[in-house]
Amino acid sequence: MDRIKSDIFTPEKRSEVMSKIRGKNTRPELFVRSLLHRIGYRFRLHRKDLPGKPDLVLSKYRTVVFVHGCFWHQHDGCKSSGFPKSNQPFWKEKLLRNKARDKRNIAALESLGWNVIVVWECETKVKNKEKLVERLIEEIENKNV
Ligand SMILES: [Zn+2]
Repeated sequence: MDRIKSDIFTPEKRSEVMSKIRGKNTRPELFVRSLLHRIGYRFRLHRKDLPGKPDLVLSKYRTVVFVHGCFWHQHDGCKSSGFPKSNQPFWKEKLLRNKARDKRNIAALESLGWNVIVVWECETKVKNKEKLVERLIEEIENKNV
């Protein structure tokens, strides 16, 4: 995310560039999909009829999974979540709005009886694979965690 801190773009241009980068089928998302697939879970992708269009939906377990970028979704306490140095008010407003939206979507899903799992981008490193697999299985199988 160092790229963003010394910003060469205007906020508007940056926003456009970044929205192309985030979006569907990001690397962390593909990583989580392949993990779940390998351990035998079936899921659907980006169900538009659910709040927040969850990245993965495991209907059988009434569980949805969001794979969130640490920057875009402001992962608390994560070193990748800092606000860019330039255009602070712009970014602060935008990113806090994203975070508030996530919170609303999760609450809405939970009120519909869905178990919601959020996987952060920083958890999707190859070296953290086993830890992530364990957490996913635990949270999918044991909904009251
Ligand atoms: Zn993070």
